Order: sequence, then structure tokens, then C-alpha cells
Amino acid sequence: MGETIAAISTATGSGGIGIVRLSGDRAKDLGQKMFRTKNNEPLDLEKHRYLQYGHIVENDHRIDEVLCVFMKGPGTYTREDMVEIYCHGGRIALSKVLDYCLRLGARLAEPGEFTKRAFLNGRLDLSQAESVIDLIDAKSSKAYDQGMLQLSGALGEEFRKIENKLMELSGLIVANIDFPEDDIEILNREKLEKISEDLDKRVNHLIQSASRGKMLKDGIKTVIVGKPNVGKSSLLNVLLKEDRAIVTDIPGTTRDSIEEYISLDDVVLHIIDTAGIRDTEDKVEKIGVERSVAAMDQADIILALFDQSRPLDQEDKNLLDLLKGRKVFYILNKQDLSEGSQDQEMKEFFQGEEVFSISALNKEGIEDLEEALKKLYYTGEVDSQDLAITNVRQLDVLRRTKKSIEAIKDAVKMDIPMDCIEVDVKEALDSIGEITGKTLTEDILDRIFHEFCIGK
Ligand code: GDP
Repeated sequence: MGETIAAISTATGSGGIGIVRLSGDRAKDLGQKMFRTKNNEPLDLEKHRYLQYGHIVENDHRIDEVLCVFMKGPGTYTREDMVEIYCHGGRIALSKVLDYCLRLGARLAEPGEFTKRAFLNGRLDLSQAESVIDLIDAKSSKAYDQGMLQLSGALGEEFRKIENKLMELSGLIVANIDFPEDDIEILNREKLEKISEDLDKRVNHLIQSASRGKMLKDGIKTVIVGKPNVGKSSLLNVLLKEDRAIVTDIPGTTRDSIEEYISLDDVVLHIIDTAGIRDTEDKVEKIGVERSVAAMDQADIILALFDQSRPLDQEDKNLLDLLKGRKVFYILNKQDLSEGSQDQEMKEFFQGEEVFSISALNKEGIEDLEEALKKLYYTGEVDSQDLAITNVRQLDVLRRTKKSIEAIKDAVKMDIPMDCIEVDVKEALDSIGEITGKTLTEDILDRIFHEFCIGK
């Protein structure tokens, strides 16, 4: 690697302190050149992992008053020598110190380069490295917990198990090709079948966890639909507990989608409020309607609103048609205006569905709705401590691996010659290797770490 890199590792903007981080062979030299104690001593390299008080000084000019720490590799994040300088947390102080590092020969770190080095030097496996982004970007404590679980290496362990099983398969196949006596072959075919079934189960389990992982990471994608004036904006406001969406009496005022994140305890709803679904010639609104349908396609849950103080009309019925086969909570709003009988009639209409009677105006019935939303995440057998795939790239790799494993399973069942099965095993190993690191290319690595921020 050679080059010594430097970056501001804290977020932009003002803060109490900000940190400039250096990593690489020359980190200690640079630290010694830049830092002076009160007694004009350079950074003491014997004091490994000790904070030292002093100034960043250039030609007798004090750039900032700082704390500085030298950390000797390999016991560091990157496994290289590192220096961290705790400056005053303003843009000017930080960029002056960073600029000084660069003038002394450090190179500005690329996004995620510290973590990339941690990976390349064996400090983290790839799934751990990728979990670092999830930790930083976590929108809920549950998402954070999942990030921590992945950072512990638990997910990497699971991927390695899959890889080991594939290698076992590969070994059996090679043995068979080399010693094709019949009795061994029969024995091995049974083993092959067992291992490929087991592999299929493991990979499927991980793939299935991805929808929960996605909800964890991005929030439960929630779309609110209903014809104009049924109370969509009002419901959104109640859920948000503040007046953010515009509420009016004129049908069709919420023309644009509004996106909000709502935290219900530690589960996050990613709410998309769309324009009312209705037959309309109005151009602007028509775009809104199309958008609603598109949003429904992506939603984890649809909150479909109806005005229970009026009988269902054609527009409501059109909406009901659109909702068929989707995951929907039917919400009968304006409970305060309904006279009971109609309410009952509607309830019959929605029989067998998940129905909530609320008043967005009086904030009645909202708690039940919120509880049901929370349960979407904590469903049945799902243990919130379970590993979940939260990374799209990893999901893509798993899908490809699954395809190869299915081919292996079929081939074993159909008594296809061993050397043909070997091709599929090789493919599966190549795919999973993109996570375990065995078949990573520079290109994939670059893509992974470019999602990071600079300084991480
Ligand atoms: P949207 O067009 O579906 O977003 O509907 P709004 O939220 O803008 O509400 C339309 C009108 O219905 C407003 O005047 C709200 O105050 C009123 N409204 C909403 N919810 C209720 C409710 O539960 N009870 C009553 N009485 N009025 C409501």
C-alpha cells in the first residue's frame, strides 16, 4: 500500500472537536513534524495510544491547540501506524491541519479508504466492513443493533460456512472424477444430495431475511392511499405528531408525494404520502395517481383510508380493486362523524381484512394502528437478534449462489456426470467468494468502498 493517507474523520459543520486521521508508514513522521508539546517536544512515539497535549505547529506558527495520539500498527483500525489529531471542531481549524498533512506528503484519503485498508490488512472481513456503513447510517436502534451484530463477524461466519460446504462438495466431486468406482459414486451422490440440500436451506434463509433487513435499514415502506379528503394528510400528521403535511378541505391538495421517517419506538416507518387515487383528467394529479400506484408496488404495507361517515362510492371501489392481493391495513376514518350503522355496514364489507376504525381529527384509534404497524416487523418467528441481510450487493451475490446451488441439486438428482456438476459448484464458489473475499476484484472493492464517506 505504501502511501500515507489523511482525512477529516468527523462530520462537516461546527462541533466541539473534530478529528484529522492519518494512516500509513509515514503517519508517525508526520505526527512528529506537526505536533509540539508545551515544552516544544515532538510527539512521543514511545507513548503508544496515549493522548498527548500540545499544538500543531508550522514554522513556529501555531495552527491549532490539540490532543494527539499515536497508535502503532498492527493494533489499529487499519493495522497500519495511525495518528489522530483532535482539533477544534470548526471547518477552518480542521482544513488547516489537514492541508498541513497533505503538504508534508500525505495523500487525501479516498471514501472508505481507512476501512478498505482494514479489510485488505485482514482486520475486518468484507461483511464486517460493509456493516460499518450500516452502523453509521442507522435510522433506528434496531438497525444499529443489526449493524453491530454484523460487525461482530456473525454474518461473515455464515458466509464462510456456505463456502466451506461448497468446498466440501467440490472435494467429493473431484474424488469421484479421479476414482470413478461405482460404489464410491453411489455413496458420494447421497452425500452430495445432503450437502446441496443443506446449502440450499442456508442460502434461502439468508435471502428470506433480506426483506426484514431492508425494513430495518430503510424503515417499513408505508404508503397512504385513499380518495381526496378522506383524511390522509391528517393521519400522516397524527403519526408524525406534528403539523407537517398541508391539510385542507379542497380535494386533491396533497399533489406531491411527501416522504417522512417516523420512529415507533425503535421501528422506523418510511412513510410515503401520495396524491389521492382518483379518476381524474387533471394532468398534475394524474401524475400523482400514477405515482401512487408505483409507490404501492414498492410498499411493505399500504394504509388505505376510507371515510366511514359516507357510503363507499365508485372511487372507493376502484381503489379497493387496486388493493387486491396487496398487504393492506384498511382504515376507516372519521369515526367521530359516523352514525354506527354505516360503520357496521362498512365493517361487513371489509370482513376478514385488517380493519381499523379511527378519527384522525380526534386522534382516536391511532394506538391500535401503531401497534399493528410495529408488529409488522416483530412478526411470529422473527427474532430481532437474528441476522438479516441488509446489503443489496450481498443479496445479489446470494441470489446468484442460489441459482448455482439449485442447478447442483437438480444435476445430482438427475444423475448428471460429475464433471458437469463441478462447473456449477465452481460458479457458486465464485459468487460467494465475492463476499468472503476469495474472488473479489479491484472493481468490486472500489464500488463497495466508494459508498463510504471520506475519513471512514
Ligand atoms: P386528504 O385529502 O385525504 O389528505 O384529507 P385531509 O387530511 O386534508 O382532510 C380533509 C378534511 O377532513 C380536513 O378538513 C380534515 O380536517 C378532515 N378530517 C380528517 N380526518 C378527520 C376525522 O377523523 N374526523 C373529521 N370529522 N374530520 C376529519
